[in-house]
Amino acid sequence: MPCPAGVNIPAIFERYNQLRVYGLKDSVQQSYAEMGRWPGNSGLAADGCIQCGVCEKKCPQNIPIRKQLAEAHEALNLQTKPYDTTEISGQLGIEKLQQRDVAALYRFYSSLSGNIIRAHRPYSWWVSAKLLLDGPFERLSAGDEYAMVIGDQGGNIWGHGFVEGLGSKKPSFAVGVHQRLLGRGWGRKLAQALLKAAEDELELEQIDAKVLASNTAGVELCRSMGFQVTGEYLDKDDGLSYLQMQKTIARQ
Ligand code: SF4
Repeated sequence: MPCPAGVNIPAIFERYNQLRVYGLKDSVQQSYAEMGRWPGNSGLAADGCIQCGVCEKKCPQNIPIRKQLAEAHEALNLQTKPYDTTEISGQLGIEKLQQRDVAALYRFYSSLSGNIIRAHRPYSWWVSAKLLLDGPFERLSAGDEYAMVIGDQGGNIWGHGFVEGLGSKKPSFAVGVHQRLLGRGWGRKLAQALLKAAEDELELEQIDAKVLASNTAGVELCRSMGFQVTGEYLDKDDGLSYLQMQKTIARQ
């Protein structure tokens, strides 16, 4: 039963049944918290539902899927995410990513919810410290990537945005913020800071972005900053649709 937002309805109901019938609370809550993090645990958790009702129109048994998804989420969602124990310390600000930030960036990616990982999905399904060192930090050293973070006064990172492929003809841009900052304008602030750097410091002529088509907030953010949709494609790995977007940077 395809869900346009990518909610894995069968997997959620399977976990909900395991909880109700067998009482496997710890293991199913852990597995639910990791939805979207692994190819074998793919699809969004129930809080990714955008209430479109498509699944209910197609359901031959007239199951109130949205209501049951909400009940399943209530039962399966951990109050505290297993990786998400750090508090925001003092004020938040935006700064350039430094080589010394490896551990903080690793903590940031480890604490993201499955849905944020799925929407942002910067490097792979799962981010390890080695992957960060071999990927973005190596590219920072080589001058092929420019990155900024939202940081607090305790040295924690709460958002990461970057422009990669600086040496290529198609540099691309991505921004992700922690679930605790959603709806507070920090994604926009980080994106604007990156685009300003792209214009002033990096002197780029155009910049690309790939956005999950169901991530309406991300698509709107890009549109409001001058990105236009240049194409749409289906990612065969995760079965989800992505918009290819591009912004031309005007020079004075
Ligand atoms: S109502 Fe929710 S679960 Fe059903 S198709 Fe729409 S987004 Fe997916």
